[in-house]
Amino acid sequence: MRAEIISVGTELLLGQITDTNAVALSQSLSKIGVNLYRRTTVGDNHARLLAALRSALADNDVVITIGGLGPTEDDITRDTLAEAIGDTLRRDDAIAAKLTEFFQSRNVPMTESNLRQAMVPSHGRPLDNPNGTAPGLLFEKDGKIAISLPGPPGEFLPMLQNHVIPYLSAKTGGRRTIRSRVVRVCGIGEGLAEDRIRPLLRDEKVTVAPYAKTGEVHFRVSCLTDDPDEADRLIDERIARMRELLGDHIYGFDEETLEQVVVRTLMERRLSIATAESCTGGMLAMRITSVPGSSAVFPGAVVTYSNRIKNELLGVSEDILARVGAVSREVAEDMAKAARERFHVDYGIGITGIAGPDGGTPEKPVGLVWIAVADSGGVVAERNQYLGIRHEVRYRSTQTALTMLRDRLAQKAIKPTTDG
Ligand code: AMP
Ligand code: MG
Repeated sequence: MRAEIISVGTELLLGQITDTNAVALSQSLSKIGVNLYRRTTVGDNHARLLAALRSALADNDVVITIGGLGPTEDDITRDTLAEAIGDTLRRDDAIAAKLTEFFQSRNVPMTESNLRQAMVPSHGRPLDNPNGTAPGLLFEKDGKIAISLPGPPGEFLPMLQNHVIPYLSAKTGGRRTIRSRVVRVCGIGEGLAEDRIRPLLRDEKVTVAPYAKTGEVHFRVSCLTDDPDEADRLIDERIARMRELLGDHIYGFDEETLEQVVVRTLMERRLSIATAESCTGGMLAMRITSVPGSSAVFPGAVVTYSNRIKNELLGVSEDILARVGAVSREVAEDMAKAARERFHVDYGIGITGIAGPDGGTPEKPVGLVWIAVADSGGVVAERNQYLGIRHEVRYRSTQTALTMLRDRLAQKAIKPTTDG
């Protein structure tokens, strides 16, 4: 079953509101096996809406509109949709009575335009809206289905769950379903990662699609199916293949974040961590502490932005700072070691770099970040040269730090120095 969503509202085109309804609807449709072929946004304009509706109805089995069912002049979806699908509207007396009562009980005068909300499809039916005055509309005409829902999310979302999903699930037999999982990969670029799993990309049954994120890559592995068990089996098989091809670069699945995986590993192994951060300003500490229960592994962090504070709080020598500069292997290593020692933890992390947009030199350009991890075996440091705006450089730095820590955790299970 092919579908198109049409979001109606000039405010959407102006970027004044975000089309959260269409996102929720897209997610729901994918779960019940309705193939969404297109998403369209049109302003409150009769001619353009009519054209969009006609095109959508010609190309799809189902068209779902969002918004434009209100009582005001710019709410044109109801009439335009009837026109596009070739149906007429009739007044529903029960809905008209309910509207009249609604206004009377609030002592608000009702206008003729309010009664437009009592107009329902001749071929089809209204969809009850307990949270507002505008009912939804379901048209079934000449083999095409059109569903129209109001824009306010508080009305839209319950109607989606209570009317649209059950109705369309029944149509698809509730069987043809998309099953999907997300495989999360770090420490390898999108191009290289895709190269490694190339044999899986031309698979008819299971789609493997890469999505580049900041500092990591996600692969959505999905399967459109009549048999969910078989789909799960096929997806598991592909994921096992991906493990062979990508190895340890796979760090997690679905909603799991890198910080969750790292904190969980630290907790399981009763290990602890502290950070000393310069250019990231505590962003790594923020990511670690965003994980519930992180207090078991993370006593704290220092943000040492200036040279003076690097020296005073961490003991990074003034001589080194003057000689090689704050953005250097030496300083990153000393920061990591000092974090480890002063917080009495198993792992210390030091981050120092140039986030930009200013402050770069030919030798030390914007995006240069040194990251070090210290543990009982010593300290390792990595020189990174990131692209991107300030936020990206900072975020990528924390991503690399977490990846390095994860590598460290995988390489050797050092003896805990603390007893949790
Ligand atoms: P309407 O049904 O077009 O009168 O829209 C009423 C209100 O619902 C708008 O002012 C928005 O605040 C909200 N709204 C409309 N369309 C959407 C949408 N696609 N996603 C989220 N909110 C929306
Ligand atoms: Mg509107």
